[in-house]
Parts: sequence; C-alpha cells; structure tokens
Amino acid sequence: MADTKHTKVLIIGSGPAGYTAGVYAARAMLEPILVQGIEPGGQLTTTTEVENYPGFTEVQGPDLMIKMQEHAAAMGCKIVGDIITELDISKRPFQALGDSGTHYTAEAIILATGARAKWLGIASEEKFKGFGVSACATCDGFFYRGQEIVVIGGGNTAVEEALFLTKFASKVTLIHRRDELRAEKVLQDRLFKNDKIVPMWFNTLEEVYGSDMPLGVEGIKAKNVKTGKITDIPCKGVFIAIGHAPANELLVDKLELHNGGYVLVEPGSTRTSVPGIFASGDLTDHVYRQAVTSAGMGCMAALDAEKFLSEQD
Ligand code: FAD
Ligand code: NAP
Repeated sequence: MADTKHTKVLIIGSGPAGYTAGVYAARAMLEPILVQGIEPGGQLTTTTEVENYPGFTEVQGPDLMIKMQEHAAAMGCKIVGDIITELDISKRPFQALGDSGTHYTAEAIILATGARAKWLGIASEEKFKGFGVSACATCDGFFYRGQEIVVIGGGNTAVEEALFLTKFASKVTLIHRRDELRAEKVLQDRLFKNDKIVPMWFNTLEEVYGSDMPLGVEGIKAKNVKTGKITDIPCKGVFIAIGHAPANELLVDKLELHNGGYVLVEPGSTRTSVPGIFASGDLTDHVYRQAVTSAGMGCMAALDAEKFLSEQD
C-alpha cells in the first residue's frame, strides 16, 4: 500500500531557500517535511568557492549546503530523499505525489524548487550533451585536462566556469554575444588577468561538431552577430553558461507566474496566488538570484506559513 505522510508544512526543494525554511518552520514547531528533489543542496553543489555568503570568507558550495542540511535536521526538520512529481493545490489539505510512491498531504506548502541551467536549444548542442557539451564545470571540467574548451555566456556563472576550467584546460575561449560582461567586477578582473582565457566578443554558438563513433566534440562554429562571419574553433569541451530558468513545471496553470515563468508573490511577502502556498528563492526571484537572498526568502516563507496556519486555527 502506498505510504502517506501528513505534515503542517511541506517544503519542496533543498537549496538555501528550502533549508532555511526548514530551520524556521521546525523552530516554529510546525514539524516540517522537506523533500530534497533530484539535486540535494541545489545549485551551490555545482560550484566550488562561494565568497559572498555572510559568515564565510570562503566556503565550498557543497560544504555550505551540507551545513545547511545539518542545521535544518538539527532543528527538527524531517528531510526526505524524494522528488515531487505531481502537485494538487486546488483544495486543502494540499496533495503531492513523490517519485517514491509516497503521498504527501499538507496544510501549507513552501515551494523552493529554484532554477535550472538554460540551454541554447540548437540541435548539435542536444546531440553532444553529456559527450562534450555540459552546463556544469565543477561536474565535468576534470575530463578536459590539457584540452581546449569553450564557454558560452557573459554572466557570473560563465566567468566563474571559465576561471575554474583553467585549472584543467590549456586554453578557454569565452564566447559572449556582446562586448560587455554582466559578471561582477571582481570576477571580470580575475578573468582579464588570466592568460589562459581568451574572450571572443559579439559571437554566439552556431554549431557544435564532432565524431559520431565514439560520440565526442571536436570543435564549434561561432557566428559574429554583427558581420555574420563564422569562425571555427577546435575544442573538446563546450560549457553552456547562459543563465537559469525557474523550475516551475509542477506549477504551470496552478499558480500565477510572470517574467518568463517565475512564481508571482505579493510584494514584500512569499504569498502566491493560492492561499497556503508560499514561494521562495530563485523560483520567484528574477532579479537577485543569490544564495543569501534565497535563504532570506526561505525564512520569510516559513514565517508567512506560520502566520497563515495560526489564522486557520
Ligand atoms: P536551488 O539552489 O536552485 O535549489 C532548488 C532545489 O529544489 C534543489 O534541491 C532541487 O533538487 C529541488 N527541486 C526542484 N524540483 C523539485 C521537485 N520536483 N521535487 C523536489 N525538489 C525539487 N549565489 C551566491 O550567492 N554566491 C555564489 O557564489 C553563487 N555561485 C553560483 C554558482 C553557480 C555555478 C550557480 C549555478 C549558481 C550560483 N549562485 C551563487 C546562485 C545560487 O546558487 C542560487 O541563487 C541559489 O542556490 C538558489 O537557491 P534556491 O534554494 O532558490 O534553489
Ligand atoms: P545571467 O546573469 O542571467 O547571465 C546569463 C548570460 O548569458 C548573460 O551574459 C547573457 O547575455 C548570456 N545569454 C543569455 N541567453 C543567451 C543566448 N541565448 N545566447 C548567448 N548568450 C546568452 O545568468 P548566470 O550567470 O547563470 O547567473 C544567474 C544568477 O546567479 C545571477 O543572479 C548571478 O548573480 C547568480 N550567480 C552568482 C554568483 C556569485 O555570486 N559568485 C555566481 C554564479 C551565479 P547578455 O549579458 O547579453 O544578456
């Protein structure tokens, strides 16, 4: 028979928002259950040094997330390794189905499903995904020791990925569609000082090419957005770092979304268009998208959920 778990507060997601909500909801004696999803610890587990989380001059992303998990668990948050595959928020108690077969029922839900890497959507990117095309340098950089690599994008992620990849690669070409980076100045400074990184401005990725047997990348064709000129760049690895999109698949047609799929919340709160459903972190934030702001919103969501539940009582 399928397992059913009832809780006052179900937290979906285990990034900074989810774990912080877990700490606060547990301390409010709400006995929360937190479902971790496919990426326990969230996006910070895909990076190395984090230098801007208060209290840590420098901490490895995965270590920070283990500390957050331990903190939430120590406060009494029940942490479950499962993935929510279906959500019914049309009536209370709300219902969620886990990939494990467990049914979760809850009086309130805190959504903290974060964001996922965006892809360019070109056919050759799809063909070589996992065979030379990646969106995670910390996961796959090691495979490219002594090789040439290309990184696409101009934000913090692209610059951090490019810098990290110089540990392995002989050369990193950073391809950006403009001639100005979006990344923080401190990161830009490190990038421009690094001899292994060659920026290529006003270009986009036109095509990835390579061998079929075995499947592997041998190079890319970049297109100049001003002149249309195609440049051939031999390389073994292609890292796509063009941003992240909110992980909202469970919520489409159930909650009001805006700005390309971010969950809409009442200004200054985490209240969504459905009473009792609260949203936090990168899922709702198209502006700041930082670990510390996500953690702050996780705190707000737990406090909002506590207030909502006490008003129901
Ligand atoms: P996320 O961290 O995205 O976590 C989402 C969680 O939801 C995951 O645990 C996932 O498993 C879970 N989930 C998703 N779908 C489901 C489901 N169906 N069922 C159950 N669970 C689900 N920010 C900084 O402040 N400093 C940095 O140095 C920094 N470096 C970064 C480096 C990289 C490479 C990247 C990609 C991001 C970086 N960021 C950094 C941004 C930061 O990681 C995010 O702002 C933050 O992680 C967002 O937290 P979150 O809790 O909203 O969601
Ligand atoms: P981002 O800031 O949205 O930057 C995405 C980059 O990719 C931009 O330079 C953009 O170009 C480019 N791009 C987008 N779509 C493209 C396309 N179709 N083709 C070519 N280029 C494209 O995303 P991010 O760098 O992943 O960062 C996401 C959030 O996480 C940000 O808030 C960031 O601050 C945070 N983060 C923080 C840290 C840190 O604090 N150290 C590290 C990583 C991420 P344009 O510039 O022309 O738009």
